[in-house]
Amino acid sequence: MSTQRGATATYKCANCGDPFTARTADRKRGWARFCSKSCKAIRQEKRTGQHAAHKMREAGECFPSHADGDVQ
Ligand SMILES: [Zn+2]
Repeated sequence: MSTQRGATATYKCANCGDPFTARTADRKRGWARFCSKSCKAIRQEKRTGQHAAHKMREAGECFPSHADGDVQ
């Protein structure tokens, strides 16, 4: 009956491509782009690359020799 509230449609997951059902209202807000939370997490990590960047920075900061001066 009420097609405006709670209307759903089938969308394709932006990560794995699996079809999933989501509310069109959520979709309009830019939500519901993934079939599951894990797909969302995977995709976001890939996109931001924060994890990799953090790892690289850590490795780089461990290396500089000025750290030797701090350590007694
Ligand atoms: Zn997925």
